[in-house]
Amino acid sequence: MARAASKKTSKKSSPNRNSKFVYTFGKKTDGNATMRELLGGKGANLAEMASIGLPVPPGFTISTEVCTYFYEHGRQYPKSLKKDVKSAIASIESQLKKGFGARSNPLLVSVRSGARDSMPGMMDTILNLGLNDETVEGLAAVSGNSRFAWDCYRRFIQMYGDVVMGVQARTEEEEDPFHVVLEKLKKRAGVSVDSDLTTGNLRELVNRYKALILKRTRRAFPQDVMDQLWGAVGAVFGSWKNDRAILYRQQYGIPAEWGTAVNIQAMVFGNAGETSATGVAFTRDPANGEKVFYGEYLINAQGEDVVAGVRTPQPISHMATSMPKSFKGLEQVRSKLERHFKDMQDFEFTIENGRLFILQTRHGKRTGLAAVRIAVEMQRERLMNQETALLKIPAESIDSLLVPVFDPKALKAATVIARGLPAGPGAATGRIAFTAATAEIETRKGNKVVLCRTETSPDDLKGMLHSQGILTSRGGVSSHAALVARQLGKVCVCGAGDININYEKRTLTAGKVVLNEGDYISIDGSTGAIYKGLIESADSEVKRVLEGSLRPKSSYTYELFQTVMKWADKHRSLKIRTNADTPGMAQQAVAFGAEGIGLCRTEHMFFDGDRIDYMRQMILAVDEVQRRAALKKLLPFQRKDFVGLFKAMNGRPVTIRLLDPPLHEFLPHDDVVRRQLAEKLGVPFDFVIDRIKALHEENPMLGCRGCRLGILYPEITEMQTRAIFEAAAQIIRGQNKVKVNPEIMIPLVGFREELADQLRTVHRIAQEVMKSRKVKINYTVGTMVEVPRAAITADEIAKEADFFSFGTNDLTQTTLGLSRDDMGLFYDEYQRKEIYSQNPFASLDQTGVGKLMEFAVDSGRSSKKDLKLGICGEHAGDPSSIDFCHRLGLNYVSCSPPRVPIARLAAAQAKLRNRE
Ligand code: PEP
Ligand code: MG
Repeated sequence: MARAASKKTSKKSSPNRNSKFVYTFGKKTDGNATMRELLGGKGANLAEMASIGLPVPPGFTISTEVCTYFYEHGRQYPKSLKKDVKSAIASIESQLKKGFGARSNPLLVSVRSGARDSMPGMMDTILNLGLNDETVEGLAAVSGNSRFAWDCYRRFIQMYGDVVMGVQARTEEEEDPFHVVLEKLKKRAGVSVDSDLTTGNLRELVNRYKALILKRTRRAFPQDVMDQLWGAVGAVFGSWKNDRAILYRQQYGIPAEWGTAVNIQAMVFGNAGETSATGVAFTRDPANGEKVFYGEYLINAQGEDVVAGVRTPQPISHMATSMPKSFKGLEQVRSKLERHFKDMQDFEFTIENGRLFILQTRHGKRTGLAAVRIAVEMQRERLMNQETALLKIPAESIDSLLVPVFDPKALKAATVIARGLPAGPGAATGRIAFTAATAEIETRKGNKVVLCRTETSPDDLKGMLHSQGILTSRGGVSSHAALVARQLGKVCVCGAGDININYEKRTLTAGKVVLNEGDYISIDGSTGAIYKGLIESADSEVKRVLEGSLRPKSSYTYELFQTVMKWADKHRSLKIRTNADTPGMAQQAVAFGAEGIGLCRTEHMFFDGDRIDYMRQMILAVDEVQRRAALKKLLPFQRKDFVGLFKAMNGRPVTIRLLDPPLHEFLPHDDVVRRQLAEKLGVPFDFVIDRIKALHEENPMLGCRGCRLGILYPEITEMQTRAIFEAAAQIIRGQNKVKVNPEIMIPLVGFREELADQLRTVHRIAQEVMKSRKVKINYTVGTMVEVPRAAITADEIAKEADFFSFGTNDLTQTTLGLSRDDMGLFYDEYQRKEIYSQNPFASLDQTGVGKLMEFAVDSGRSSKKDLKLGICGEHAGDPSSIDFCHRLGLNYVSCSPPRVPIARLAAAQAKLRNRE
């Protein structure tokens, strides 16, 4: 029995009354790194860091089970939670000798989300919680720094007002209302940077913020610290279902039922003065994977300042001179974290009056290039073995080693207008879009865009997805724009302080250059250069090596690519084929490692030059005689194409599918071309019109296509079979004696008798050609499984077939009763409501379509043990679908040429992941 049940579907059950909901870390630590499911990634790693002796401020995690409960019970909490939280707070109080809500020496906490897989910036965070009109004075007294206390208070009110009380910009063009209030006050006080605001200014700011909240919400900012805490906890759990979190989950296949945990942790202060700082660091460079300490920090600031991109931070290397002692400590933490977690870490730290604290660590998000480099180098450093290294590389990331770079010649002629920080490698060119909405509209029109913003926020995610690249004028390499771009594999240049973006005027200014929305701009995410205008891009180093225009030894990227591909080939059992219709495509695929052609769509061979006219003549024919005359003209073209394909594949298997699409797809749609066609064929215009009308179908996808064509017009099958066998004979008889074993594939079969009908024609013509050319050609004939009936009667159909290839484009279409070309109208809504967890045409619907496949595999092999099985729908290039195909026990997957390297890696990962 094929075993392929989906792995990601297990639901957590509701917690029972005796469940433990709160897990502490600090002096007493309940959790560890293996408990991600329950504690989320952040909570589990905080616990782990606390237990290996890293300086983690004490705190506790409310488990993801509570999130499930919260949504299953109308946003209520389990009864015992209040008590547990109270005692966990008491534990922090006693460890730090501070009091939550106390007038003297008050305890402040942060409240942060933390899902099983990190979803940076998608959910909510609140810092400095526990401040009110009284405790702020207590903080001022204990720190001896009233400016600092009031700075914390204004930050807290702003964050709480935004996240918990919903005081936000109401349109994309509107500025953040707190920002407006702050800027007004700064102007009045005559200061340009926040740190120049006096205590008096900050007190005034607090009053203005409170007034803003009251005006907008008609509720006062809460003074009770426990009310503050529960408001924040509710907001964080609530943010699991905000729009951007939903969109992010769809992008990364994170199930909605996982839920988030909430982490509550004692605050430490990077804004306590000039010996305090806060920062984000990566143990290696997340952009290119190099083993260097990478990151940035801000003196006298809080964590959110770094990520939000409000001030542009200093590179971490500067700390070696500005805070040498802290830097040394940080270096030690860097190496301890890598050795312990055995992966590149992205960690947050705060230095409070010279004392170092680690607030978070996680496996660092990285570009595709960095993922490959880090895995290969960590394997060489013996931090992980080959299998682990392979599993660490997201299969899709191989693609970023193959992405284009700017054409060096075009680049020479281009003008650099400014520079920013290189934050997501590759070359992007497109029209300027200043808002996420414009980016989306323009891409839907078919334009390429570069999203240009002063800084991005999680609300820009959709626009970022639609853009070729992202350019920001503010923020560092760990700003929101940079983090998200790297994850999405988007080109990104950030923190380009020399450019000025004016949303109102819709202009981007760099020195004297003024660009308007819609003008072309080009950015290089590997160097940070920003260019005016459109620049042609060039092939990647890997591609140039594969094509022979660059020596392998000159490219480290190629060495990395080859290493990973070699490892992958050693571990995978699925064969990787490609969908290719021309010798050029076939050659590219072979260079990428394809082991055969799994689908040659013969209809794609009819579009070029004269052949489209003969094809049209064949379609318009009124009887068999006319049809055969046209087919006779097509035969030499087909034969030549197959010779080219067989040569390019040099003895590798080639599966050729006979004609599949509705014939009228080939006919011209407008009268001018129809008239030209009539003239060319020497027939009246009305004749062409009448035939087109006669061929019209209401539902062509479900009409006269697939094997129905060959059954209705056997002469088409005859011509195509003849072309295949004559080409094979020519190759076999040729000088190079290349082996050819054609595999002929009949499309859209649902009945055994359909296949049997076509087989009779194929065998008859094959015998004829072999006899006349005096050659023996080994060939097989199989079918596509593309309609549910074929899957359900697979045992019957297998009796006629040498192989099955799952045509999952059509199988998805026919199983879901959903046209693959017409889902645009409702797809967004389905995604928003999480009805489809993924686009079913991109990633296999494993629970529906997958069940049919599983049945067909079992049933087909029950009647023919050695039935060869493959897949050639678009899903064959999708890593999670490849994993499914591996579990089903298919022999091969066949994807488009550029996806072959991804498929090789995904197939190896499937094998490793599913080891017994
Ligand atoms: C399929 O249906 O999955 C398939 C590969 O065929 P086509 O996309 O050409 O219909
Ligand atoms: Mg199909």
